[in-house]
Amino acid sequence: MTFKAEYIWIDGTEPTAKLRSKTKIMAGSAAALDELPIWGFDGSSTNQAVGHASDRVLKPVFSCPDPIRSPENGDVLVMCEVLNIDMTPHESNTRALLRPVAEQFAGQEPIFGIEQEYTFFDGDRPLGFPVGGFPAAQGGYYCGVGSDEIFGREIVEKHLDHCLTAGLAISGINAEVMPGQWEFQVGPVPPLDVADQLWIARWLLYRTAEDFNVSATLDPKPVKGDWNGAGAHTNFSTKAMREGYDAIITACESLGEGSKPMDHVKHYGAGIDDRLTGLHETAPWNEYSYGVSDRGASVRIPWQVEQDKKGYIEDRRPNANVDPYVVTRLVVDTCCTALEKADQL
Ligand code: ADP
Ligand code: MN
Ligand code: MN
Ligand code: MN
Repeated sequence: MTFKAEYIWIDGTEPTAKLRSKTKIMAGSAAALDELPIWGFDGSSTNQAVGHASDRVLKPVFSCPDPIRSPENGDVLVMCEVLNIDMTPHESNTRALLRPVAEQFAGQEPIFGIEQEYTFFDGDRPLGFPVGGFPAAQGGYYCGVGSDEIFGREIVEKHLDHCLTAGLAISGINAEVMPGQWEFQVGPVPPLDVADQLWIARWLLYRTAEDFNVSATLDPKPVKGDWNGAGAHTNFSTKAMREGYDAIITACESLGEGSKPMDHVKHYGAGIDDRLTGLHETAPWNEYSYGVSDRGASVRIPWQVEQDKKGYIEDRRPNANVDPYVVTRLVVDTCCTALEKADQL
C-alpha cells in the first residue's frame, strides 16, 4: 500500500511569495503529521537559494486529507515550513516569526476569521469581462444570481466542497462587487491555524480552477479604474473582546498608536496604496480610523458588536495578497500587548 503526500510551501518570490508543491509517495495507508518526514527541494528554482548551495528543507507543520486525490486512500496535503540545511528557519519563513508571538499571547485566546477575496481570470481578462471591453458597471454583482451576473460559480462550489472535505474551517463564500470576483472566509480559529488553513485553501483554489482552465489571482487591484480591489479583511478577537466593549476599544486604539498604522500597512500586501485609495469601501492607506459599521474606516466595529457590547473587530486594510502569517502576528502583537497593559485579559 502507498499513499500520496502533497508537500506545499511558500517560495521566496518578491514582492509577493507564491505557493509551490510536489508529491511524495509514502509507504503505508496513512500518516499522522508527526510521521511525515522532512523533505528537500531545489531552493535555487524558488528564489530561496543560490545554485551552488541550493538545498532547502521542507518541515511538515500541518496536514489534512487531500480532497482532490483520494482522501479515503489516506492521501494528504502537507503545509511545510522552509528551513535551511542547519534546520534554522529560512529568511522567507514568516510562520517561524508568528510561532513565538502566538505562544506568548495564547493566554488571551486570540482568534481570527479572514475573508479572502480573489478574482478569476480567463487568459488576460477577468472571467465575465467581454473581449476588448468592459461589462456593465458595478452594482448588481455582489451576492448576485443568474448567468448575466455570475461567472465561475461551478469552480467556487467545487472549491468549497474541497475545503470542507479537507476539514478546513471555511465558514462561507460569496460573489463580490466586480464580476469574476469572489470571497471565501476561514475561521474563526487561532492565529497559526487560520494562517495554515488559509494557505491550504489558496492552494486548493488555484488547483481547483486549474481543472477549468481558469486562473485565480490575489492581485489587490486586478482592474484599474472604477472597479473594486480585492482584500483580506482580518476579523480578530481575544477572550476579553468577546466578553466586553472596553477591550474592543483598546484594540482599535492600539492599532492607531504612534507608528503602528504604518508598521502594519507596509506589511499588509504589495500594492496596498493602489487599493486603499479612500474609494471603493476603503480608507486611505496613510490615514488610520476606526468606526462602528463604517466600511470607509481602516478598522470596523460591526454593528452587532456595538449592540452587544462585545465581539470582534475587522481590520479592513489587508490586501488579498497579504501573508496571513504576517498579518496575524502584527495584530496579535499590537492588540494583545495593549490589552495586557490595560489589564483587559
Ligand atoms: P463581512 O460582513 O465583513 O463581509 P463576513 O461574514 O464575510 O463579514 O466575515 C466575517 C468573519 O468574521 C468570518 O470569517 C467569521 O468567522 C469571523 N468572525 C466571527 N466572529 C469572530 C470573532 N469573535 N473573532 C474573530 N473573527 C470572527
Ligand atoms: Mn465578507
Ligand atoms: Mn468582501
Ligand atoms: Mn469584511
